[in-house]
Amino acid sequence: MLDTLRTLSEQVSSARSLDEALRVIVHEVRRVMKAEACSVYLLDPHSDELVLMATEGLHPEAVGRVRLRSDEGLVGLVCSRAEPVNVDDAPHHRAYKHIPGIGEEAYHAFLGAPIIHQGKTLGALVVQQSRRRRFLEDEETLLITLATQLAGAIAHAEAVTGFDNLTTPQRSDRPLQGISGAPGIALGTAVVLNPSRSLSSVPDRDSDDPEHEIQRFLQALERVRGDIDRLEQRLGDELPQADRALFEAYRLMLTSDSIRGKTIERIRRGQWAPAALRDTIEEHSRTFRLMDDPYLRERVDDIRDLGRRLLARLEETPGQARPFPDNGIVVSDSLSPTSLIDLPLERVRALVSRQGSGSSHAAILARSLGIPAVMGLTDLPLEKLEGRLLVVDGYQGRVFIAPSAPLVEEFRRLSEEERELQADLEHLRDLPAVTRDGHRIALYANAGLFSELDPIRGNGAEGIGLYRTEFPFMIRDRFPGEDEQTRLYRRILESCAPGPVTLRTLDIGGDKSLPYFPIQEENPFLGWRGIRISLDHPEIFLTQIRAMLRANAGLGNLHILLPMVTTATEVDQAQHLIARAHRELTEESDVPLPLPRLGVMIEVPSAVACAEALARRVDFLSIGTNDLVQYLLAVDRNNHRVAKLYDALHPAVIDALARVVHAAARHRKPVTVCGEMASDPAAALLLLGLGLDGLSVNAVNIPRIKWLIRNTERHRAQQLADQARTLEEARQVRRLLQSEIEAMGLGGLIRAGK
Ligand code: PEP
Ligand code: MG
Repeated sequence: MLDTLRTLSEQVSSARSLDEALRVIVHEVRRVMKAEACSVYLLDPHSDELVLMATEGLHPEAVGRVRLRSDEGLVGLVCSRAEPVNVDDAPHHRAYKHIPGIGEEAYHAFLGAPIIHQGKTLGALVVQQSRRRRFLEDEETLLITLATQLAGAIAHAEAVTGFDNLTTPQRSDRPLQGISGAPGIALGTAVVLNPSRSLSSVPDRDSDDPEHEIQRFLQALERVRGDIDRLEQRLGDELPQADRALFEAYRLMLTSDSIRGKTIERIRRGQWAPAALRDTIEEHSRTFRLMDDPYLRERVDDIRDLGRRLLARLEETPGQARPFPDNGIVVSDSLSPTSLIDLPLERVRALVSRQGSGSSHAAILARSLGIPAVMGLTDLPLEKLEGRLLVVDGYQGRVFIAPSAPLVEEFRRLSEEERELQADLEHLRDLPAVTRDGHRIALYANAGLFSELDPIRGNGAEGIGLYRTEFPFMIRDRFPGEDEQTRLYRRILESCAPGPVTLRTLDIGGDKSLPYFPIQEENPFLGWRGIRISLDHPEIFLTQIRAMLRANAGLGNLHILLPMVTTATEVDQAQHLIARAHRELTEESDVPLPLPRLGVMIEVPSAVACAEALARRVDFLSIGTNDLVQYLLAVDRNNHRVAKLYDALHPAVIDALARVVHAAARHRKPVTVCGEMASDPAAALLLLGLGLDGLSVNAVNIPRIKWLIRNTERHRAQQLADQARTLEEARQVRRLLQSEIEAMGLGGLIRAGK
């Protein structure tokens, strides 16, 4: 059963269109369920009708013609109830709707399962039989399992087809909905990054040099042949004769004209080698898949395996370097901060990713660079996007593929207004972040993602509220030494002096790993992370602390921040090590080394509960809401499936923030928010009202947050915070804060345009 599911899902995922995917589904499900008819109905969101999209067993001409209201007939019942319907005599059921001429009269037994993807009902999968009987429980669970497994693949195929179907502009102007990664509007040309992990995600791309592509392909063929020979030599004697025949079969396929010749032919017609290979392999797979002989059907797996091997070898020989367009929109399956290192960032207009969510580090990086980003676009048809015009709306997490001219015009206007707003805010640079009623807020910048690129200065920040030291560690191939770290920290401290700079000690683990210090864990976010690693490896921690202290000589603007603290003991231990490093360094040198101020990050629920004990021990607290939200709400910050539950305005988060502010105030210690929440204008208004002393935000957002602060009154923000604390849902809080911002005339902070 699991094998059947796996093969079926793979076949559906690799289909090149929705029609093809659905044809495969009805054929296979009918076979597996031993049903006489199998059909798929999908909901057309424009007309809110269920459309018969594919069938085996009903009349083929009915496909596309049969349309039911979304609550009509037994299929409508499946969809409106979002649960299976199992009926022994369908024509006598009260919900049955007779549609003449489609051949349904012959069937009595009816079993339908809803197709649900990410909480949305897409349609129904139906099997029918002529005998009057209820389908067995096992059959029912099998159909439900098939429908759940196929839902994602159908959604993907729908997105691809929606894109193909560009004849109707309304269709193309329907955006793909993802998650906002970084605000802003961008128009540009799609550049697909590391596209070819699998055959199905190889993008279409034209080639200007077919001869080069053919050579590349022939080299790959040769290498795979060599691989197979070597594998045979290694395993040959251990394998039974029947299995050894496989090697011969592979060799034959490699030399056969059907793979070699057909791929070369496609390259000559203008495709680049990977896409030509993809199409050839898929054409073969299709032919074999439709064969009735089960042995031949199974050969599909061998063909695809061969295709994957060829692709891997093909990627070893570089294709022609593509010029990166001036207005590139980088599109990828997944994005990590390091995957962006080689990009010409000055020409990147936006980032779009199938995986990840708004609090993934790639999204944080995008925000810090001021590049709009949309994450978690699971249905993005990567293979179809290269070179296409995209419009990215980072505010609402939407991407329009090949949009119509009026839509492009509208977004150009909005993007122009954005630029004007940004320019209008320039004059705020040297003004303080002070409310209309005279309350001053410390406004700092977050930095460290790309130390060389962060626009730290020039945005009007008073200093750096969070420097993530792990990123310089991540882009090296070994731990940086004490001198190297000292030079790096010195540069940062000097660039902001006399303004304070908060260097956070190494925060690896979770989703940040070092290539030279791999950590394999079942549950990395609850595992060896942040301060836990530092305390278990005092040699790494002490080196870092010594470098920080040395960099601070003669400057005195260093603050040290400890990440992922869960108990007061960890602070005691870290303080002990810091004091030791300071003592040793003072003994070694004759330059006086000022003792830095020490702070603790509040980013787990236990730190909220122990905030008083922590505040008593250190000089300041800094709330890392990115992690605090994930741990309070039990929502993985990188998981797009639960991204809609990740909300920094959740009442539990607001309550935690208020507790920390209270604890810090009792010990007269300042408290700042350095998580992404502070860069969100609506949330920043709330933080002001809750009594935070400082905000540390992405450098590019500083003018906007300053604008907000300078246009509000603290006592009004306090009223809003009090009101927010009476609300039970995050969306109510957001509505409250956003309508206040609109009423203040600052709507340009929370949506596109001015
Ligand atoms: C946080 O968790 O809010 C934070 C600032 O740290 P990071 O995003 O690096 O985990
Ligand atoms: Mg954190």
